[in-house]
Amino acid sequence: MYQHDVLVIGAGLAGMRAAIEASRMGADVAVITKVHPVRSHSNAAQGGINAAMGGEGSDDTWELHAYDTVKGSDWLGDQDSIEVMAKEAPQDIFELEHMGVIFARDEFGRLATRAFGGASKQRTFYVGDITGQALLHVMYEQLLKAGMRVYEEWFVLSLIKEEGECAGAVAMNMMTGDIEVIRAKAVIMAAGGIGRVYEPSTNGLICTGDGMALAYRIGAPMMDMEMVQYHPTTLKGNGALLTEGARGEGAYLINKDGDRFMKKYAPNKMELASRDVVSRSEAIEIQEGRGVDGCVYLDCRHLGEKLIRQRLGQIAELALEFANVDIVKNPVPIRPGMHYIMGGIKTNADGASYVPGLFAAGECANVSIHGGNRLGANSLLETVVFGRRSGKAAVEFARSKAKPVRISETMLVEQQKAKIQKLMDQPYPGYTSARVRLEMGKIMDKHVSVFRTEQGMKEAGDTILRLMQQYHKLSVRDHGKVYNWNLFSTLELENMLDVAEATCMSALARKESRGAHSRLDFPDRNDKEWMKHTLVYKAEGGPKIDYLPVVITQWPPERRTY
Ligand SMILES: Cc1cc2nc3c(=O)[nH]c(=O)nc-3n(C[C@H](O)[C@H](O)[C@H](O)COP(=O)(O)OP(=O)(O)OC[C@H]3O[C@@H](n4cnc5c(N)ncnc54)[C@H](O)[C@@H]3O)c2cc1C
Repeated sequence: MYQHDVLVIGAGLAGMRAAIEASRMGADVAVITKVHPVRSHSNAAQGGINAAMGGEGSDDTWELHAYDTVKGSDWLGDQDSIEVMAKEAPQDIFELEHMGVIFARDEFGRLATRAFGGASKQRTFYVGDITGQALLHVMYEQLLKAGMRVYEEWFVLSLIKEEGECAGAVAMNMMTGDIEVIRAKAVIMAAGGIGRVYEPSTNGLICTGDGMALAYRIGAPMMDMEMVQYHPTTLKGNGALLTEGARGEGAYLINKDGDRFMKKYAPNKMELASRDVVSRSEAIEIQEGRGVDGCVYLDCRHLGEKLIRQRLGQIAELALEFANVDIVKNPVPIRPGMHYIMGGIKTNADGASYVPGLFAAGECANVSIHGGNRLGANSLLETVVFGRRSGKAAVEFARSKAKPVRISETMLVEQQKAKIQKLMDQPYPGYTSARVRLEMGKIMDKHVSVFRTEQGMKEAGDTILRLMQQYHKLSVRDHGKVYNWNLFSTLELENMLDVAEATCMSALARKESRGAHSRLDFPDRNDKEWMKHTLVYKAEGGPKIDYLPVVITQWPPERRTY
């Protein structure tokens, strides 16, 4: 048995930032992660991180950043939380820089910025096109410096709930197969996004919505799960991301006739309109026959080789290796691809979920900053601002508790063992979890994507239900104890199916178009009836839907154009 004041689940940017804050406050904090910390998906972030720094020669303000975010969210983001993020952003960027992040600099030696989608000012700080990697490695150094316990390559199987409060987690040490109980007075869920619920996705294979599903199962509602972001520039073929930073640096989107089609859809912001708008525009071009082989083109040629090598080196390499295109010389085929979920575990601005003792931060949480559509480079910012805040709040919560709740450790371990044994004992049915995973991903990508209809979403929902029934018949053939990935990917699949079901149900319920949720059968935004968040609870007989008002502070809804 292990015991801590605060247990952080996830060692991406949100988890590590939360842990560092908790440790600074003197708490006994531990981090648990299914992969080595620097392999977390945060490592893949390319384009940058937003802050309205102001300073010499800049007329940017936190209010402008907040307004852009509200507009980007299609008025579904909570404005009190958005204000917190926009106000606190500059201090967090400075802190990252002081920790050692080597942000790009301008010709005067000041921190440089690039333009990004949906932003009225240039306010995205970056490190080439490897910003996430630069941030994550520096954060990991801070974690090492603080000397805290990291349960590295441990897979969390369930959260412990006793007397209505979250009191730790049950996890498997992936190297030995042993199941252990880790008690904590407060738990911070920072287990990242759900990318692989869709196929293809820009996300790493480890982004399987575990954190959301674990929290959902102990009664924490998820919010706005219908809001799934399709990124406008994912590579033909494998769906890898080509950063919005490319368009920030001036790259064009063109159709088969070489026409910069965004002038029709967003004449002011062109390629730098918000992502939902650009993705829909591309989808229309492709549907109406002005694409090539299901794609349009990202054209970087006019940026010149020097700039491309300096600032867009990673995407040049991705395009060359996976699509055999040299972006210095040729436009590269791209299309909208699943990238991010705005929805997640409902929290307040201090990371508290509806289950006492359970906090959440980063992509698995919904604070709510992004509402119906996230602006590029606001997510890395969210991880550090709300990681820090939830670290602090979790320590305060832990201090208010005299001692951890006592629970029968043996029972907790036995429950998990029984569940795993059942998977192992199942006769081999002729199909595998990989096949179910693929079918789920394909149907979600087909029907709960850029454009949606009642019929399509129902088909997806029914398929997910069928796959959930099939799940109980799946067997795990590998009975080994050491790094049993056959087992882990089957457990991940269970999490993904829960998340997929919640997404389908939330999407079916919202009968309007807002942000990333664009319905052909309800094409308009309907503020009168739908300016509200969708909450989804796990219940007997399927998800239960409820609603919550959106918080408006100073920006009443407007028509959204770019
Ligand atoms: C390709 C790509 C590029 C991006 N570029 C940008 C960008 O330029 N700017 C921007 O703002 N945003 C960007 N984003 C989004 C942003 O990177 C992510 O939203 C953010 O980094 C998520 O951080 P996180 O800490 O919440 O989760 P992650 O970094 O995904 O970390 C999740 C952690 O949870 C752990 N975990 C998960 N399940 C379990 C389990 N069952 N047991 C134990 N541990 C578990 C994992 O091991 C991992 O450590 C990008 C995303 C992608 C995919």
